[in-house]
Amino acid sequence: MNLSSPNSNDATRTANRSKSVVPSSGLCSRCVDGCRGNCEVFKSTFRGRELIYPGPFGDITAGGDKEYPVDYSHLNIQGYAFGANGLPEGVTPDPDTARFPAVDTSTEYGWDKKVKMSVPIFTGALGSTEIARKNWEHFAAGAALSGVTLVCGENVCGIDPALELSKDNKVTKAPDMDRRIGAYRKYHRGFGEILIQMNVEDTRLGVAEYIIDKHGIETIELKWGQGAKCIGGEIKVASLDRALELQRRGYIVTPDPSDKINQQAFKSGAIKEFERHSRLGFISEEGFMQEVERLRALGFKRITLKTGAYGLRELAMAIKWCSKAKIDLLTIDGSSGGTGMSPWRMMEEWGMPSIYLHSAALEFASILANNGERVPDLAFAGGFSSEDGVFKALALGAPYVKAVCMGRALMIPGMVGKNIELWMKENDLPKTVSEFGHTPEEIFVNYEKVKDIVGADEIKNVPLGAIGIYSYADKIKVGLQQLMAGARCFNVAAITRKELMSLTDECAKVTGIPYLMDCYRDEALEILNSK
Ligand code: SF4
Repeated sequence: MNLSSPNSNDATRTANRSKSVVPSSGLCSRCVDGCRGNCEVFKSTFRGRELIYPGPFGDITAGGDKEYPVDYSHLNIQGYAFGANGLPEGVTPDPDTARFPAVDTSTEYGWDKKVKMSVPIFTGALGSTEIARKNWEHFAAGAALSGVTLVCGENVCGIDPALELSKDNKVTKAPDMDRRIGAYRKYHRGFGEILIQMNVEDTRLGVAEYIIDKHGIETIELKWGQGAKCIGGEIKVASLDRALELQRRGYIVTPDPSDKINQQAFKSGAIKEFERHSRLGFISEEGFMQEVERLRALGFKRITLKTGAYGLRELAMAIKWCSKAKIDLLTIDGSSGGTGMSPWRMMEEWGMPSIYLHSAALEFASILANNGERVPDLAFAGGFSSEDGVFKALALGAPYVKAVCMGRALMIPGMVGKNIELWMKENDLPKTVSEFGHTPEEIFVNYEKVKDIVGADEIKNVPLGAIGIYSYADKIKVGLQQLMAGARCFNVAAITRKELMSLTDECAKVTGIPYLMDCYRDEALEILNSK
């Protein structure tokens, strides 16, 4: 099985000259002196380190496309011919009460101060990467209108060109953070929340103090990692002055913009962009507990943790320490998680793939529960884009998984909606859109619903990307209602691991979900052998 082919991928805008490719190296079987391109080695010959990243930065998101021996498609969902669990108390299940639109897809997370969401999904961490910044109004309004949580990622204050710092290098004014919080709150309807992520640099800059003092933000997220990479967040900057400014603010910037040789290479056009990197974290139980205490003392109501595709040791630390520290939500992001900027080969080759990591998380959570310890609410992340994936994640991690974190998939409708707005202005709607009409009212199936929420005057101010996200979240909700109704689960809490079956022995071994020929076998035999 060819799991991943190095040396050519759309992500790095490279391709082999030949159709015949050596699986392990990804080089053409016959490499020709005189080849005019365009594999990664060819392109690295003159663009060097640029080939590490998917591109162009700011205009794309990327997700690893390595095929793993087991993934979520190796699970199928059960459906039943009778019964109904999770209907409101007092409702007698029958064909009139147990209808699929009656399925309640709402969920909540939190140790004791709960946050309720309309649909069990929330955004990935949309931070300092350019694609998040420039589409923010669409993403924020869309998440708020959909009643789901929006995660504002790391480094947003640190890269703000208009940032103002005190003499001791603490944030006193961060207009981009203010804008981001305002955009979500404008359309917030009581479901979901905006929570803000913090890394090493954010901590040093006093971001936690700023967002609670100025905005009264209730939830802050500590970050150990993500699915796409095992180094800190990164962005590119196309200006020497900006690169120098970020270096002065304490970031690692490469190639070193203060180096005269690099400055000359930038001026002559060879170096087109600098990379801004965050530092690696160094977790310890004592440090983790101290930071949680510090944040609680600042007044945060909820503290969440995001961890990445690390191995079993770090996963156990995350689950155990979150239990001890009464963390409100632990998001576990497997590879191949999406990204605005991460090293491509790292995305392809590092870390625990989602289904393996999530299966281990369930196993570890059960160990804690069996020892009488409370398991924090969990969210799974890493490659989800549709309602069946959401259902499978909720079922695989039941009863601890409360929601699914969606990175790239929740960004797409924001970008598509924004572009439809643009295309309409330029009278350039593609056929894929114009076949449904030429106005927002005709094109967006949920336009009238959103208008009803915000009012006839305000609808003119709602960015079309937000209506796009609302429509997509509605599609997830209705699709989930159908899958849940088929599995006779009328609320999220009613979903159990029994609602899944493994299609292969290996999947069963990894997930602990029985092979499909063993699911409900005892019940079947009992029926057959009865008199
Ligand atoms: S240089 Fe050309 S022929 Fe050689 S491996 Fe790359 S694409 Fe193939």
